[in-house]
Amino acid sequence: MALVSCPECEVQVSDSALKCTGCGFQILKLERGFFGKLFKWVFILFNVLMTYLLFSYFGSVGEVVSTSDSEAAQTGAAIGATIGTSMIMGFWVFGDIILGLLVLFTKPKS
Ligand SMILES: [Zn+2]
Repeated sequence: MALVSCPECEVQVSDSALKCTGCGFQILKLERGFFGKLFKWVFILFNVLMTYLLFSYFGSVGEVVSTSDSEAAQTGAAIGATIGTSMIMGFWVFGDIILGLLVLFTKPKS
């Protein structure tokens, strides 16, 4: 373990120390580990993907509603869309909670 001098107060501190023991200056930047970064990006990508999925789903439902002539088919599509939307939303919220917790647990500790 080597010693480095603090850029703020010149006190000798260990190079593995996050903060200076003399003045509390942050020497090492806190960075997410591999899994921390991974989960963060998975979390972002998941949200982007779910947004895309929801919009493309709305698009396809809208097509069915506008192209069908019978009222029954339109009602069916509307009911199906409600169920489909709540399923997507439920999955989205569930995924966000799981991934959010993973992101939280892999947060760098001070
Ligand atoms: Zn210092």
